[in-house]
Amino acid sequence: MKTIQIAIDGPASSGKSTVAKIIAKDFGYTYLDTGAMYRAATYMALKNQISPEEPSQLLELLEQYPISFGRSENGEQLVFVGDVDVTNPIRENEVTNAVSAFAAIPAVREKLVALQQEIAQQGGIVMDGRDIGTVVLPDAELKIFLVASVDERAERRYKENLERGISADLEVLKKEIADRDYKDSHRSVSPLRPADDSITFDTTGVSISDVVAFIEEKAKKILDK
Ligand code: C5P
Repeated sequence: MKTIQIAIDGPASSGKSTVAKIIAKDFGYTYLDTGAMYRAATYMALKNQISPEEPSQLLELLEQYPISFGRSENGEQLVFVGDVDVTNPIRENEVTNAVSAFAAIPAVREKLVALQQEIAQQGGIVMDGRDIGTVVLPDAELKIFLVASVDERAERRYKENLERGISADLEVLKKEIADRDYKDSHRSVSPLRPADDSITFDTTGVSISDVVAFIEEKAKKILDK
């Protein structure tokens, strides 16, 4: 059966992972949350008091304790470093606010991109991140760039945080999201930007199911060709 690669990029909290997960399930594809990998690397760095200016020890740790994915009994995707489950701690504010600095390190990206490309070899995939359409899967058949207003994204993150039991302040979240977008789009290696052949979709005020329907329709057209 013909399968395709679907790349979903966009700024923080633009709804990428929510829609990517649903599409992967509907199509029976692998879902890969590349942000979780940068978060896992950052978690490891913070735990070991490694600064982004001195990443060599982090690279060694990534060799020793590789990042991998698993699945919980209820089907939730789990993230591991070595055999430690870091699914929940990588969502903590401390990691969220430090991740852009570690994601800007070229050697860290090289390592994680290689792993992402290896996972994509396995067949149909929906991958979300910042550089999927531009760097990781430049030949992806479908590239989507999701955007949304900072206000709406902060509100989504606010609700997500509360559901996860993480305390949150809406105004602080707005600032953190804007700061992270700025850092992610202004770094020298693989900055956040839409690929030339991507479709940009503004999800402000659009329901999750409508975003999913839009992407799935595009994907089906490609599969039917
Ligand atoms: O998607 P999420 O918000 O969890 O990503 C966390 C961070 O990981 C981003 O702010 C960015 O710094 C980094 N990232 C990246 N490239 C990707 C995915 C995420 O640089 N492909």
